[in-house]
Amino acid sequence: APRTVLITGCSSGIGLALAVRLARDKQRRFRVIATVRNVSRSGALVAAAGSALGRTLEIKQLDVCDEGSIRACLDSIPGRHVDVLVSNAGVGMIGPLECQSLAAMQGLMDTNFFGLVRLVKEVLPDMKRRRSGHIVVISSVMGLQGIVFNDVYAASKFAVEGFCESLVVQALRFNVAISLVEPGPVTTEFEAKVYEEAERADYSQTDPETAEIFTKLYLRNSKDVFASLGQSPEDIAEHTLRVIEAARPPFRHQTNAAYTPMAALKHADPSGALMTDAFYKLVFKYDAVLRLGLRAIRLLRWKAQKVQAGARLLGFK
Ligand code: NAD
Repeated sequence: APRTVLITGCSSGIGLALAVRLARDKQRRFRVIATVRNVSRSGALVAAAGSALGRTLEIKQLDVCDEGSIRACLDSIPGRHVDVLVSNAGVGMIGPLECQSLAAMQGLMDTNFFGLVRLVKEVLPDMKRRRSGHIVVISSVMGLQGIVFNDVYAASKFAVEGFCESLVVQALRFNVAISLVEPGPVTTEFEAKVYEEAERADYSQTDPETAEIFTKLYLRNSKDVFASLGQSPEDIAEHTLRVIEAARPPFRHQTNAAYTPMAALKHADPSGALMTDAFYKLVFKYDAVLRLGLRAIRLLRWKAQKVQAGARLLGFK
């Protein structure tokens, strides 16, 4: 029988790509419950799902900030039977701390961290009783390593990682697997949303030097990083599929090899000096070198795409 996979945050980005990828599985291994906070915003999901809708994919309402909506969604599933839970819904936040309200920070924690906690509290008891199940969490490389001006977002993903790292051993006793998928930059609405907010922010709340570092140095580099190292939501869906179908699912899975060495710095030197020094230099000393490197990667990528497109035109695979 196909496995029932419940995914949160499917109206866009990674959630949408994963829901559609699993629903279109050639071997028909999955029955996808693609959940969205706001059903009236599921147009893109409906379009992408195509003929899978009503067959291997159904759309249900679920707001990860509302326990009642999570319970109602699960109660509507026969036997509340979920084989794989994918906790994907999340929000971003960038910029100087002084420009962010505590209410906004708490809202982010409520979605990114307590959203996961609410889902797990509702789903894990059933999985433990059945002695089978898999909880897959879309974390981030920022759950492993903090990045300048992502203070609260990184903290929310660290919380997610600490929660899962503690829970995994108990879950294992009940034959329930937990996996953290850790993407680097992914080009989704997420990126656009944080830039939009950064543009609207009131920088008079911080000192001019900090405002300048953020608006001039950080935003420019961040856009370059996304353009050169960013993966597509379909890439992340493919990685997540591999985690879901694994006979022995990994606890952690990074999707972007370029980010793998980053967390190693912190483990190599427990005092933290190696890590802070490397990131300080990267941001403030090697800014020009970093930008040049990223531009080169972007150019190579663009050229490779052109070559591929040309080859396709000529009929090569
Ligand atoms: P996205 O903005 O396209 O998708 C996030 C989805 O979560 C949206 O559909 C949104 O409606 C939904 N959502 C927000 N609050 C919700 C709530 N309360 N209840 C239900 N749904 C809610 O961005 P994305 O990049 O696809 O993000 C998906 C996940 O990937 C997030 O957890 C994010 O932290 C993580 N991630 C993103 C990136 C990136 O660079 N885009 C990198 C690493 C990790």
